[in-house]
Amino acid sequence: EVVTRFAPSPTGFLHIGGGRTALFNWLYARGRGGRFLLRIEDTDRARSTPEATEAILKGLTWLGLDWDGEPVSQASRHARHAEVAREMLDKGAAYKCFSTQDEIEAFREAARAEGRSTLFQSPWRDADPSTYPDAPYVIRVKAPREGETVIEDTVQGRVTIRNDQLDDMIVLRSDGTPVYMLAVVVDDHDMGVTHVIRGDDHLNNAARQKLVYDAMGWAEPVWAHIPLIHGEDGKKLSKRHGALGVEEYQAMGYPAAAMRNYLARLGWSHGDDEVFSDAQMLDWFDITGIKKAPARLDFKKLDHISGQHIAAMEDDALVSEIDGYLAATGQSALTSPQRSGLLASMYCLKDRAKTLPDLLEKAHFVLAERPVEPDEKAAKQLNSVSRGILSELTPHLQNASWTRDELEAAAARVAEANGVGLGKVAQPARAALAGRAVSPSVFDMMLVLGRDETIARLNDAAA
Ligand code: GLU
Repeated sequence: EVVTRFAPSPTGFLHIGGGRTALFNWLYARGRGGRFLLRIEDTDRARSTPEATEAILKGLTWLGLDWDGEPVSQASRHARHAEVAREMLDKGAAYKCFSTQDEIEAFREAARAEGRSTLFQSPWRDADPSTYPDAPYVIRVKAPREGETVIEDTVQGRVTIRNDQLDDMIVLRSDGTPVYMLAVVVDDHDMGVTHVIRGDDHLNNAARQKLVYDAMGWAEPVWAHIPLIHGEDGKKLSKRHGALGVEEYQAMGYPAAAMRNYLARLGWSHGDDEVFSDAQMLDWFDITGIKKAPARLDFKKLDHISGQHIAAMEDDALVSEIDGYLAATGQSALTSPQRSGLLASMYCLKDRAKTLPDLLEKAHFVLAERPVEPDEKAAKQLNSVSRGILSELTPHLQNASWTRDELEAAAARVAEANGVGLGKVAQPARAALAGRAVSPSVFDMMLVLGRDETIARLNDAAA
């Protein structure tokens, strides 16, 4: 069984890179009938907050990345971590080190003076326990001194670290608390994690973590260290590149499915396929398809993918997305007439909307109530000439049967009678019906609004 995990440190919001890491883990597990687990790495008590955990869970939930079981708190497992450190001691894979900070400093000083490696080599590594003093100690893992440590990474390839570059890492501090590097390995082992997919900023940690796997005789997981996301200019992602938090993307009105699709494409590809469904993604995703070069954030691509998802989404799924978007951005919820209006007009809203607010902007005609307040651009369309044209249009609409053909014919007749193009009728009608200069076609709006509402709005504007 495949078991993956996402292991965020709860020190802020869900970063876009973290969202992608979570997605890759989710895809890999869910696409193989495996389990996707969540571990909150709250070891750093000073920096970890419950609010940050909450924000991360919320981000994952919005992204639709459901996890199995309860999130595991790393801090709650410290007794277990310490127990493993003692087990390593019993096995002879670790030792008690009584060296004081001053002694370590002196060692480094001397090493520096002699041009040797300053990595600390403890005199206690092979000491006879009968010589142990009654003094505070740390537990250090016995790292191999010769040869090299190899990490076979699915993304990075074979990564080799000379063992003389690895010191005898501390696993348990003198106050009995475990170090982070030990906690990660013990948790991954106990949680049955088979695949560790995470940012390549942790690649160096893998070599040190392997020391713990080896010391305990545990099988190491499959490693996949994915390149971090860069900005459009190829530089490391930072605030000046735009939104970093997943929740900011929700607030910009990208549907979650589009975000999943976009994030999957950041660093992973399946041929030239750009737009795909969850089912396809789950089917196709594999860690072997993850690219070694850093992916670049690309808002144009995101807009494109988002627009394609909106166009393809079922109407009621889109309305639920809109509900979530309005709630997340603190806007008032749809009333039930607005909801049915949206559903009735969805067919003429979906295409060319890149985001949910785009779509809501196009939907303004069906969400607004009489009297429809024209915005600045729409107001410009309503002058004495165009008002006159609108008042000529209404009698034609009074008797037209309410079909697109007849509505078009009515507008064409009025245009012809005035010796103007159809636009001179359609533009003020749009301003009257939508109060906006941008909207679906006037005839679609008329069809959705119905005869009475259409005529009332045209009369409002003509008056
Ligand atoms: N807590 C680490 C982070 O947020 C992840 C550690 C891991 O995935 O092994 O960067």
